[in-house]
Amino acid sequence: MALVNEHFLKLPGNYLFADIAKRVNAFKTTHRQADVISLGIGDVTQPLCPAVIEALHRATDEMGTRQGFRGYGPEQGYDFLREAILKNDFLPRGIHLDIDEIFINDGAKSDTGNIQELIRWDNTVGVTDPIYPVYLDSNAMIGRAGVKDEDGRWSNVVYLPCNAENGFVPALPDRRVDVIYLCYPNNPTGTVLTKEELHKWVSYALHNDTLIFYDAAYQAYIQDDNIPHSIYEIRGARKCAVEFHSYSKTAGFTGVRCGYTIVPKELTAATLTGERIPLNPLWLRRQSTKFNGTSYLSQRAAEAIYTPEGKEQVRATIGYYMQNAALLLSTFRSLGFEVYGGENAPYVWMRTPAGSDSWKFFEEMLYGAHVVCTPGVGFGPSGEGYVRFTAFGSHEQTAEALERITRWMTV
Ligand SMILES: *Cc1c(COP(=O)(O)O)cnc(C)c1O
Repeated sequence: MALVNEHFLKLPGNYLFADIAKRVNAFKTTHRQADVISLGIGDVTQPLCPAVIEALHRATDEMGTRQGFRGYGPEQGYDFLREAILKNDFLPRGIHLDIDEIFINDGAKSDTGNIQELIRWDNTVGVTDPIYPVYLDSNAMIGRAGVKDEDGRWSNVVYLPCNAENGFVPALPDRRVDVIYLCYPNNPTGTVLTKEELHKWVSYALHNDTLIFYDAAYQAYIQDDNIPHSIYEIRGARKCAVEFHSYSKTAGFTGVRCGYTIVPKELTAATLTGERIPLNPLWLRRQSTKFNGTSYLSQRAAEAIYTPEGKEQVRATIGYYMQNAALLLSTFRSLGFEVYGGENAPYVWMRTPAGSDSWKFFEEMLYGAHVVCTPGVGFGPSGEGYVRFTAFGSHEQTAEALERITRWMTV
């Protein structure tokens, strides 16, 4: 008899977005005429930029010729893309990486979920709360998170609350934690850490021998010069941090699939006897066993966003979404809501009015304004009392949704 991995049974049964869809469908069956606008989903909507489309066409044509055909690519990704990453994402910020510290992947979700395979099952895990669910669920699947209590807290996880009271700046843990996940700019709150604040985390990690898994999926949305795009802008971070990047939100690659992970050569973890083991060769070994690379087409597409035209076009699309974010912020403020984020990230995090928790407000707005948001509690216990709005809609839909909310609030 095959025994099942029972850790899977501890995971919450309903994924947040399935739960939302169920409630929206229930609404639609009783309100057949209503046209619902979603400001809830975390997917982009604008098409790929022309530079990417040209690169995809070119790469496709090459694949149809005997000389241009490519089969399995290099395990860590093609050098043309890794070199473009070094030259454009890191050198201008004074960060010197070795090309072998870059691992091209099929998007950040896989690697943020898989990276925990490099550490023992009994490490302690810390997360900022609320948080992108992948980090905790991937640890729960192998039993590292422990068991979930009624409030949705895992027994072996250290939660670092981020809320309006602490300005969404998590306090350092009051005890040692082996591994910490940080995501900045943050999904779901849309808030950021300054260089000084991130510096405190790197110091904590170096003093406590803590590993940081740093998710920079939204770095392209940063507008303010004092906000770090990479944790390696902080001295010492190469000794304590892995960093994840994604082209999904940067350039609309949610359907194309491409990203990359940095595992510095200086980064190590200990054996029980205290020997230090470099993680870079371990990750290479892991990837070359379980992953066969990102398609040549996707890598050529990603390379194209580093050309002068590509950079300009990607910047324009991000600017388009950030106009939505600005409109969300200003409209919500004028209606008297308390809102956060939205200045260096495509997410606006709203405190629900007194008397409404996340799900209650979600339903009130769905029934009152026919607009969908994401209940904050779906991202962790500290998300209770908040909802998330995304800036990924069209200008027309975002403006229309805000007009409806304004009408609903002012009746
Ligand atoms: C969207 C997102 C990612 C990127 O996922 P991909 O697999 O690259 O599409 C990673 N981290 C966070 C926090 C995200 O919101």
